[in-house]
Amino acid sequence: MKVAVIITAGGKGERFGGEMPKQFIELKGKPIIIHTIEKFSSIASVETIVIPVHSEWFTYTKELIAKYDLPKVKDVVVGGKERQDSIYNALQSKSLEEMDIVMVHDSVRPFVEEKLINKIIELTEDYGAVIAGTTPKDPVKEVNSKGEIQRTIQRNKVSVSQTPQSFWKDIIINAYQKAREVNYIGSDSSQLVEFLGYKVSAVEGSEYNIKITNQFDLKLAELIYEQLNK
Ligand code: C5P
Repeated sequence: MKVAVIITAGGKGERFGGEMPKQFIELKGKPIIIHTIEKFSSIASVETIVIPVHSEWFTYTKELIAKYDLPKVKDVVVGGKERQDSIYNALQSKSLEEMDIVMVHDSVRPFVEEKLINKIIELTEDYGAVIAGTTPKDPVKEVNSKGEIQRTIQRNKVSVSQTPQSFWKDIIINAYQKAREVNYIGSDSSQLVEFLGYKVSAVEGSEYNIKITNQFDLKLAELIYEQLNK
């Protein structure tokens, strides 16, 4: 099966601070987004990569792609207001036409392991909708708006959603279309697919697969990089 990956990079990184969105910040001399694209580029069945970016960073992204020679990046598109809108825009790309599976991955998760990507692709072939998720280490409580604990949730009944999230192309396209029609907002692609009525499976992700969101994560990312490249 032919696999495409949408690598989300449409955020302006306001939570992170600084003048550059976090995906463009260098980690060990290379922009975080390039580390991420290279991971997927090295997977044989991945043929197409589409990247939604904020309009202000469109030209810059194109220049970066050219500089690092990444031929699997077939399209850079302008993202939307929310992550969901950015993915919707990427799903309109003509370069997805021949594809069977579409994965979504955050540009700010550069440590996704090839083993995990391949496992998710393999499972998607059979099941149609598969995401990476981790089992929390700490007990999980449901709280109300005042912070009062309502109940304790068994850890093994919880999966904390990561990316990659992977789907048969028709499923993800229908999910984003439907969500747009009825104005449904989900916190990840999986939620939109669940809303459409499909069963999504979660496979154990990786603790290394962090989402670089703040300065602390960037420090952690340097340590993880050193650990993985010893
Ligand atoms: O802001 P957050 O960390 O949740 O963003 C996760 C990913 O979604 C980032 O890679 C970010 O660039 C992307 N994003 C997007 N379009 C937006 C907002 C965020 O592609 N409008």
